[in-house]
Amino acid sequence: MALSHTCDGCGATLGAREDLHRESTPTGRSWYCGYCRMPIPDSIGERLSHRRDGSPTDRR
Ligand SMILES: [Zn+2]
Repeated sequence: MALSHTCDGCGATLGAREDLHRESTPTGRSWYCGYCRMPIPDSIGERLSHRRDGSPTDRR
């Protein structure tokens, strides 16, 4: 199933880990658009981070 998130800031389609920017914070992790650094909801970032090149082999 295709999973992607359209950035509210620049309109980019974020569909893989490589499209995201991650920062570690004292409370966990925060996700941002890799292009404009617009914050992305945690649940979206976590799901996208589990995708690698669309490979279906390591999903739960
Ligand atoms: Zn963006």
